[in-house]
Amino acid sequence: MAPAKRDYYEVLGIPREASADDLKKAYRKLALQYHPDKNPGNVEAEEKFKEISEAYEVLSDPQKKAMYDQYGHQAFRPGAGAGAGFGGFGIDLEEALRTFMGAFGGGGSIFDNFFGGGEPSRDSSMRGADLRFDLEIEFEEAIFGSQRDVTLPIMDECEACKGTGAEPGSKKEKCRRCGGRGMMISSNGFFQVRQTCPSCGGTGETIANPCRTCRGEGRVRSKRTLNLKIPAGVETGSRLRLAGKGEGGSRGGPAGDLYVVLHVKPHPLFQRKDEDIFIEMPVPFHVAALGGEINVPTIHGYTALKIPPGTESGTVFRLRGKGLAGVHGFRNGDQHVRVSVEVPPRLNGDQRDALRRFAEVCTDAHHPQQRKVLDAAEEFYTHKKAMEEGREK
Ligand code: ZN
Ligand code: ZN
Repeated sequence: MAPAKRDYYEVLGIPREASADDLKKAYRKLALQYHPDKNPGNVEAEEKFKEISEAYEVLSDPQKKAMYDQYGHQAFRPGAGAGAGFGGFGIDLEEALRTFMGAFGGGGSIFDNFFGGGEPSRDSSMRGADLRFDLEIEFEEAIFGSQRDVTLPIMDECEACKGTGAEPGSKKEKCRRCGGRGMMISSNGFFQVRQTCPSCGGTGETIANPCRTCRGEGRVRSKRTLNLKIPAGVETGSRLRLAGKGEGGSRGGPAGDLYVVLHVKPHPLFQRKDEDIFIEMPVPFHVAALGGEINVPTIHGYTALKIPPGTESGTVFRLRGKGLAGVHGFRNGDQHVRVSVEVPPRLNGDQRDALRRFAEVCTDAHHPQQRKVLDAAEEFYTHKKAMEEGREK
């Protein structure tokens, strides 16, 4: 049993109604305090850093925040349907660092500015970019989940140079501009300003003989087909994260992640909100008047619905448990059926005769809604008349 997780708002020390700006400020302050670069070897600080990064990761994403506000930590448990697309439960250090980079513009510059710098990384590799891909899916796929192949334009590691960017057989040279340090230091009054070398981009090396296939980039444009698993219960805006399926890293760096953002096509029959399904169902007027049973389509198949005698247009009936399976491990959703009374557009002679006989035995008491409107109208005209007479006096 894992220890109880602290409330994300409590972790960041902000109220639930905090603005996005306040959230970022609170995260920044704590992230800089507990950043592993500032607390080398301090396991407690690292745990703290992971905790605040996780809280920020969730609360800075409107959709995750909404899920968290509604379901708490439950929303992100592993195997929790839609939650599975959100990076699961908990966060590792690598993810925490990525969150930090994502929030503050990436690159190494923030450390130089905040922590007084350090030696630039000698590792010239760069992590590939995260990719976002928008995918339109059918209503049925969102409800029941599906698998499909998608083909994406993507940057992949260059096979000719194995991603190094140097022509096979050639060597890299020490950067002349920075002398291989990757950094330029200039003095500005009291401060020393460190700057990444613009010639080598901080790597300290330049490629004398760039790879001809990728022009020294280490990566090439290509296409990739992925088999995508869409979990049941996703909605428009749901993101699927495919770790390591983003762009290839340059010079042997790790690949980025791929985020697939889903857009669900509307369905002509069913509407959906969370786990609930909504449908408009016309009912023959004699059934609405006499009562009876109708067959209503649900996402699981037809279901019988009892219509009580005297049912009005606009009445909503609830079919319990006929919505989506409980995505977050809670109850199943319901289906809401809003009925409209349907008048036959055409009548034959027998029907007309039957309705005329019906009309003969009708009084005001049989259509109270209309009576109500006419009574209100009468009152209006009475007032109107009284006012007109008062003016004439
Ligand atoms: Zn190449
Ligand atoms: Zn340089």
